[in-house]
Amino acid sequence: MDVTPTLGDPRYAVAGSNYPLTAKQRELIALAESLGPRFAARADRYDRDASFPHENYADLRAAGLLGLCVPERYGGLGADLKTYALVSATLGKYCGATALTFNMHVCSTLWTGTLADDLDMSPEQRAEHERHRALHFARVVREGAIYAQPFSEGSAAAAGKAPFGTTATKVAGGWLVNGKKIFASLAGAAHYYGVLCTEDKPERTMRDTLYLAVPADAPGLSVVGDWDPLGMRGTVSRNLVFKDVFVPEEAQLMPRGVYFQAASRWPHMFTTLAPTYLGIAIAAFEFTVRYLRGEVEGMPPVKRRMYPTKQIAVAEMWVKLEQTRALFLRMLEDARIDPPKDARLRAYAAQFTIMENANELCRLAIRTCGGQSMLRNLPLERLYRDSRCGSLMLPWTAELCLDRIGREALYEPGEADD
Ligand SMILES: Cc1cc2nc3c(=O)[nH]c(=O)nc-3n(C[C@H](O)[C@H](O)[C@H](O)COP(=O)(O)OP(=O)(O)OC[C@H]3O[C@@H](n4cnc5c(N)ncnc54)[C@H](O)[C@@H]3O)c2cc1C
Repeated sequence: MDVTPTLGDPRYAVAGSNYPLTAKQRELIALAESLGPRFAARADRYDRDASFPHENYADLRAAGLLGLCVPERYGGLGADLKTYALVSATLGKYCGATALTFNMHVCSTLWTGTLADDLDMSPEQRAEHERHRALHFARVVREGAIYAQPFSEGSAAAAGKAPFGTTATKVAGGWLVNGKKIFASLAGAAHYYGVLCTEDKPERTMRDTLYLAVPADAPGLSVVGDWDPLGMRGTVSRNLVFKDVFVPEEAQLMPRGVYFQAASRWPHMFTTLAPTYLGIAIAAFEFTVRYLRGEVEGMPPVKRRMYPTKQIAVAEMWVKLEQTRALFLRMLEDARIDPPKDARLRAYAAQFTIMENANELCRLAIRTCGGQSMLRNLPLERLYRDSRCGSLMLPWTAELCLDRIGREALYEPGEADD
């Protein structure tokens, strides 16, 4: 496919104008912008049908974006977390469900790529990891494989408070996986499911978490349940059941014990869902401006911008959007292994703000534009429904972000009350 990078309207660029971007970031954002209008044109259909955006993934594959965070020495585009987030938010402006599922795919390469390079491993673990991830990256880059990230189980595990109930039992040549995952975005569309599970041994703890790539066609794996949600319908997040599913040794996406280290030392790895919702917030603002100016395609060119109440509402939206964007960009600057305490607290605050404000901006957009704007032939009502999902995403739901901020601000590690 011929993908000619073009820059979108700079007023609605994710980082805003005059933000320092590297040449690579500019190029990749432009690539995402060039795909965006096609994604936007298809978004209504996927939303109505609650079907997976296969055509968008064919475009992402043809543009090389499935390998966005695969390191360059493995044939990928070598994007770091910040570059990924800017690209992801750009896609989010056009189709939330595509951006959200793209997150699940890309994280399986980001976490095993540059993030894993920062973690402590013994020489043997490092050698094992290099062998395994070379296979995994080759599947993405050469075969165009898509990875999903099914962690949630409907227990305290996905919140990071208990070991996963899905287990992996050591057998000759690999592992036997048993359990159930709920809300597995890309269910039925992914080629591999990056499953978090617990090594089956006595007295299991969260340190025993394993991260295994289970092939979609592995015997014993089934996709079950309906999918008819309020929003993010194109993610097709159905349930997965694993019944004695065998995976070979090389299915390990991280050596034993390393996922727990990543989750403890690289907290920004859990902020990667947020860019999708910043994209949605920008789209809601942009729509509101076009609507009030009488410039929405397919609508009579009626202007509504002259009413002071509309102007105040738009101003309020812009203030919220700029607050959100500023925290988002600052959070990306902070992202690193072992961040200082204030950066960790800021990451929770950023996630909370982006998820809550995305929904709030969509709410204000509908109230300001009025009744016709929530008809299904216009994108705003979909943005509104999609935006509602952001603060529900574990492990950093809006509630859990507040919970963590409150506790970690008041207690130093290891402190307790008498
Ligand atoms: C569109 C969409 C796509 C998704 N895709 C994926 C995916 O690809 N992979 C995946 O793994 N998951 C995915 N999820 C699931 C998501 O991350 C959550 O796991 C899910 O929304 C939790 O729903 P629940 O009702 O089981 O939450 P519950 O676990 O019942 O929690 C309800 C709320 O209680 C709070 N809570 C939970 N645990 C605690 C605790 N220990 N202490 C205090 N408060 C707590 C949280 O705020 C939470 O929102 C997706 C969800 C949506 C909506």
